[in-house]
Amino acid sequence: MAKETKYEICRVCGYVRPVGKGGRCQACGVRDTAFVPFQHKASFNRRLFLKLDVHPVAVHFTITYTAVTALLFFLLLFIDELLGVPLQGILDLQITFLPLLIASGGITGLIDGKIRFRKIKTPYLYRKIVLGCILLVTSVILLGLHILSQGDTSFLLIEALLISVAFILASYLGWIGAELICPIVPMGKIES
Ligand SMILES: [Zn+2]
Repeated sequence: MAKETKYEICRVCGYVRPVGKGGRCQACGVRDTAFVPFQHKASFNRRLFLKLDVHPVAVHFTITYTAVTALLFFLLLFIDELLGVPLQGILDLQITFLPLLIASGGITGLIDGKIRFRKIKTPYLYRKIVLGCILLVTSVILLGLHILSQGDTSFLLIEALLISVAFILASYLGWIGAELICPIVPMGKIES
């Protein structure tokens, strides 16, 4: 960026805006006296990437996808089709693409971590990487068993366990991730 823009932050809600916009906080509505000077820690390009939310979007999509896969799996225990559509084929596709989606969450997570924190070997990120690997392995084993058991119920119980574990792990990873967004986009209250 050619010229340096100055910023200010709302002490009530953490909304950041360029200095000179004036008026009440566009986010929470408090008076402009609540604003104090603010300096971004990250460069414009780093902020731009983080603002695209590539990793959070990938993670949210993967969590939803895993939930739908689990729902389909358990639904199939009771019914074979919904509105005339056979569910088995949909479940087969869902389980086939699950490892790919989880891997996309992992890869975007590594890029996000590197850009956000400059390093990825911090305790939190290390925990996320280990859990993410377990999640990926879980989805691959699930796919393997699902292919092996095609048409019968030989691994039904293990598959049910794996799909449940995958959903819990994906959700937990998203939960930890939500806490890690704060250092660049401050959500806390500034003490005066
Ligand atoms: Zn505000």
